[in-house]
Amino acid sequence: MAAQGARSETILVVGGGIAGITTAVEAAEAGAEVVLVERGPSLGGRVAQLSRYFPKLCHPTCGLEINYQRIRGNRRLRVITMATVAAVTGDRGAYTARIETRPRHVTARCTGCGDCARASQTRVPNPYNYDLDTVPAAHLAHPMAYPMRYVIADSVIGTPEADRIEAACRYGAVDLGEEPGAFDMVVGAVVWATGWRPYDAAKLQPYGYERHANVITNVEMERLAATTGPTLGQILRPSDAKPAKRVAMIQCAGSRDHNHLPYCSRICCLASLKHAAYLREAYADAEVDIYYIDIRAHDKLESFHARIKADPRVRFIKSKPASISENEAGDPVLHGEDTLTRDLYETAYDMVVLAIGMAPTAGDAMPEAALETDEYGFIVAAETLGGGMFSAGVAAGPLDVSLSVQSATAAALKAIQAVRGG
Ligand SMILES: Cc1cc2nc3c(=O)[nH]c(=O)nc-3n(C[C@H](O)[C@H](O)[C@H](O)COP(=O)(O)OP(=O)(O)OC[C@H]3O[C@@H](n4cnc5c(N)ncnc54)[C@H](O)[C@@H]3O)c2cc1C
Repeated sequence: MAAQGARSETILVVGGGIAGITTAVEAAEAGAEVVLVERGPSLGGRVAQLSRYFPKLCHPTCGLEINYQRIRGNRRLRVITMATVAAVTGDRGAYTARIETRPRHVTARCTGCGDCARASQTRVPNPYNYDLDTVPAAHLAHPMAYPMRYVIADSVIGTPEADRIEAACRYGAVDLGEEPGAFDMVVGAVVWATGWRPYDAAKLQPYGYERHANVITNVEMERLAATTGPTLGQILRPSDAKPAKRVAMIQCAGSRDHNHLPYCSRICCLASLKHAAYLREAYADAEVDIYYIDIRAHDKLESFHARIKADPRVRFIKSKPASISENEAGDPVLHGEDTLTRDLYETAYDMVVLAIGMAPTAGDAMPEAALETDEYGFIVAAETLGGGMFSAGVAAGPLDVSLSVQSATAAALKAIQAVRGG
């Protein structure tokens, strides 16, 4: 590593979701040296957790695998997983970034055979499925993980189970002694592509997310619909695994609300329309009620809205439900007033989906130095530390995949200009 004060044309990209991946491959294919740092065991970010994604309702594999091919084929791009940036000091063209790594306990010799998982007895929460199920202590982050390399949960390290996992590996790829590490790297520009996290539904007290088993969030709905999810793609309600056929979606659950997220996340209406499509494909007799303030299906996606609206089994009810209770059958019951008819309703469903918004992650991105943010907390790093810092994707504001990719390409160009003195 170069000493502090040295100049560098390397671009550091923080966050390996669709925006960070795009920034990294675009910059590397344009000739820049790039280091992509991802805190999790795999690239892909939250797009990898979608069942399918609009506009074409493709499986995320189609978008991600093309990018993984581009990463594999580019020697200028280095990927570091299980790593975060603790601090950045310096100035444009000569930043020193402190990178901290967590142990994976599995080396690059891993072939992805899965023998270690078969030797695991302990199960740990599965963040890929938003903890709706568990995975063996030795596991792959998800079926399309990149790198395709297992990870061993810290909780079994030092136990006889860890020794059994090590013994089961025919390739000598288990490293039980791996420790957390840290190193400095000199880079010329930094692109923050640290994405978003789902708004905490527990804060929406009247909706009882923590009290009612059959009140779930939109990100959990993605996993219920996914063939790689906890129900293998069957949309079953959590309390009793009954098919969820009468489902309500509550739009703006915590969004456009000064007590929660004051802004519109731009994608929640479209996500709920997509969830209606999932349900109508899964069950011919499914009925979906979408409770909305106003439907925001931006630019070309209005036609998707029109298609779902034409389905007589999908109803749109202009209302923000006041509260959710639960009846004796465990059905969530929505209470509120229809804004157009002024009728009060009290309607039971198999399941309710809260369309929660995308919350900023700037505070988690680099804990030891505040990044410049907008009034909502999204990163607008351009003026931070000499103008060589940029943000891309949802780190910069609520965007869908297509707009995240556009912003990532723009960030790649700005970073190249920054390191080349433009
Ligand atoms: C319910 C729902 C459904 C959606 N469906 C669609 C859809 O159908 N079509 C569509 O276009 N969009 C959809 N979206 C939006 C889509 O998920 C986002 O546009 C996309 O995730 C943005 O990608 P990103 O790379 O900016 O962020 P993310 O996907 O959040 O990726 C950020 C990455 O950065 C990593 N990271 C975070 N902090 C750090 C750190 N400090 N150090 C290192 N790494 C870090 C994370 O681990 C993650 O891998 C949906 C959103 C929701 C809520």
